[in-house]
Amino acid sequence: MIDHALEQRLHTLVDVFLEENAKVNLSAFRTPELCYEGNVLDSLPALEIEEIQKLKEGDALLDIGTGGGFPLLPLAICLPHVRFVGMDSTQKKLDAIGRIVTALELQNVELVCGRAEELGHDAAHRAQYAIVTGRAVAPLNVLLEFAAPFTKVNGHVIAWKSMHLQEELQESLRARSELHCHLTRTHRYSLSKDFGERQLLVFTKTSKTSAEYPRDIGIPKKHPLL
Ligand code: SAH
Repeated sequence: MIDHALEQRLHTLVDVFLEENAKVNLSAFRTPELCYEGNVLDSLPALEIEEIQKLKEGDALLDIGTGGGFPLLPLAICLPHVRFVGMDSTQKKLDAIGRIVTALELQNVELVCGRAEELGHDAAHRAQYAIVTGRAVAPLNVLLEFAAPFTKVNGHVIAWKSMHLQEELQESLRARSELHCHLTRTHRYSLSKDFGERQLLVFTKTSKTSAEYPRDIGIPKKHPLL
């Protein structure tokens, strides 16, 4: 699936990323091996998902809470025809990603600083994305409140999660129904060594999100939909 040239690009990403990570704390994976496995290879299983494979030229994908740029950057490298937007509330992380994007000459990545609770009401972003992704951002019920407003009707939210998800899934029932996000697929994958088995959860947004969501800054986390 990943040819040699792409693999080289992904290793270059790790080199440039680790230089930035030495200046700004972006990730706990500080060796090339750990960073490749734990950040790059953990981002790529999304390429096996039909909804990602169907993305056409000009479709847009938003990565919420992109932090140091995962899954944003590996996916942007592998899917140059798709428009990628990385969003985070911390400007200095986005500045670091901006330098990585420049070093790799990525033409399909934009960065937006702000809180999901605010940007989710901004017409420039609301209901504008075919796919919204989130890795290590929040529990499902909170992540769906952040992500659903940005997603187009019939678009998808993809969450990176561990295999121990029973309780979190149960606690997301109200959010799923209130935000019209239905779990349509789970995709399990394995990474080597201590990383083990993980999964991607794919939700389909079936109707428009009510104007009351997302709620004000801090509220989704403090009072998750339960
Ligand atoms: N997705 C990355 C980073 C995870 S850390 C990875 O998997 O490596 C979570 C990130 O989400 C942090 O960078 C934090 O600044 C951002 N974040 C948390 N809440 C947010 C919110 N409400 N709006 C925007 N960004 C948020």
